[in-house]
Order: sequence, then structure tokens, then C-alpha cells
Amino acid sequence: MKAHPEREGFSRATRPLALIVVATLLFGQATPAFAYLKFGVPVRGQQVTLKWSQTPVRYFVSDTGVSGVTSADLQGAVGRAFASWQAVPTASITYQFAGVTSASPGKDDGASVLGFQSRPDLDRVLASTSFLVDASTGALIESDIFFNAAFPWSVSPSGEPGKFDVESIALHEIGHFSGLGHSALGETELLSTGGRRVLSAEAVMFPIAFAAGSIASRTLKADDIAGISDLYPDGNFATTDGSLSGRVTKDGQAIFGAHVVAFNVATGLMVGGFTLNAQGQFSIGGLSPGPHIVRVEPLDDADTTSFFDAAQNVDIDFRVAYLDRVIVVPKGGDSGAVTLTVVRK
Ligand SMILES: [Zn+2]
Repeated sequence: MKAHPEREGFSRATRPLALIVVATLLFGQATPAFAYLKFGVPVRGQQVTLKWSQTPVRYFVSDTGVSGVTSADLQGAVGRAFASWQAVPTASITYQFAGVTSASPGKDDGASVLGFQSRPDLDRVLASTSFLVDASTGALIESDIFFNAAFPWSVSPSGEPGKFDVESIALHEIGHFSGLGHSALGETELLSTGGRRVLSAEAVMFPIAFAAGSIASRTLKADDIAGISDLYPDGNFATTDGSLSGRVTKDGQAIFGAHVVAFNVATGLMVGGFTLNAQGQFSIGGLSPGPHIVRVEPLDDADTTSFFDAAQNVDIDFRVAYLDRVIVVPKGGDSGAVTLTVVRK
């Protein structure tokens, strides 16, 4: 999670013993194309989706506090954030607090640790999540979250001016910890400093944080709920929710990385996805059944590398467009493929 757009620090040194860390953000399998961005691990030429295979996922909290936030405060705030993800009725992932530790996040010790570390050199990174993965199987062994102690922090129930809210930032990082990539459901404006200010966000997984003092990101949005339910489906997710799929073309050619948003006219809820393959296909799941407006837009409210690996050729040279009709998403089924046509800027 960044104060301004800049890559989050996923990189860590490669470890021995066939263990690696995930250094790049990749997308999951595109067919059948659920379009949430996930982390992928290359295993023998195949992309394996990064996710926990056993629950509850145990986590430790480091025993070090910062000004205004004790280790116990940190434990309370991250506990509330974990509980928010765990409360999603259509997702099965659960978490368990395993204790306080003197270990720091970022150590490859097999234990998942959340804690503060001072990294003034990372002057635009509020917090970051790293992973330890078995390179031979793609199995997730550990995930650590560090909160940058170089920034001012707060756990005040109503937020504190000038300080970042631990629970809000933890909620975003725990999305990563669970295997979710970034969502593009947000609007920003450019600042004269070169950074961006968030005007609105319909996803906790939007890569740029609200300004200090805000507690707006303590609550999961429809897009976050769809993403975690896609990774860890539970109960009747597949039968109660529906999906909307199709493709995006420009000049008759498929485009990659177009951001497609499904807006439920009845509920006002929004869920986004991306075109993720050479055919320009997308599929947005986790939608409440009913009529939806479909919009496609270029990925221009943050750096494309906040979403995709730099090697991916993301097309942002097109104008926002809407599908020319309302699509009714069926309960437990798919809309049937729709085609969105866009034109160059
Ligand atoms: Zn992030």
C-alpha cells in the first residue's frame, strides 16, 4: 500500500533450499477466466495461483510498537482487519492469532509475522507484504507484512489527522497476504509533486491509500468480497452469485489489461476485472444477480506496474466506453459473452 503510486516492495533476496519469494505480480489462469488479479508462482513453466492450502492461517504480531501504537494496539487493529476478511460469508479462509513474537517481518523463518519496521528509504511505501514459497510446488509457506515505522500511525477509533490508520492499511495488506492482487476500482488526481491523491475507491485493494487521517478503508467493498470469494469460494458462492464475461477489442484486435467494471443498477455495487489473455477476454464473478451496466476503461489511475508485471503489454490507449445495453446477470450463471468495442484516444 502506497502513499503515492510506486511499486510495493515484493522483492526479497532469493533463499536457498529451493525456496523462493514472489517478486512479481502476475495474473492467475485466464481460462476459465476469472478476472481478479492474483499472484502467480512459476513452477516448471506453469503458473500456480498463490494461496493458502490450509486454514486457519496462523500469524504472529511482533512485539515492537511505534509512537502512539503499542504492540498490543497493533495486535488489536490487525485482528479486526483479519476478522473483516474472515467474515465474508462466501469465502472460506480463516485466520488465527498465534502469539506475540520478537521476530521481525521479512525473516524467512516459516512463521507469518506482522510488525513495524523503519524504512525511511521507502518513502512512498506505507506497508508491504512478502511471501515465502516452495519453488518446487508453489506452496505458500509464509507471508509477512511490514508497516513502515517511518510514517506516523494511529489506532484511534475515529482516525487521527495526519496519521495513517493501522486497521485500514492492514486490511489492504491482508488481502495480499491472502493472495489478492490490486484492484483498479478507484479514481485519483495528479498532484504537482508527481504523486496522486485518491478521490474515491470502491475497493480496499486499490493500490493507493487514502490520505492520512482517513478510516474509509476499514470496510471491504463488493469488489474485495468478490475477489476473496473467487480465491476461497465457500457455501453457495457458485449458486447465489453470477458472472459477466466477454471480450474487448480495438480496431478489431483484442486488447490486454483493459479494466472492465460491472455496475449493478439495483444495488449500486461495483466489481471490476481485466482482459487477461490474447483473445481480450474477461470474466467478472461474484456479482449479485440483476441488471448491470458495463464500462471499460484504460488502467490510468496508477502505474500499470501496480497491477501487472512490467513485461506485460497493458494497453491504455483507448477511451472509456460503455456497453450499448444493460446486461442481466443470472443467479448462479453467466451473462453469456458480450463484446465491448473501444477506440483510440
Ligand atoms: Zn497493495
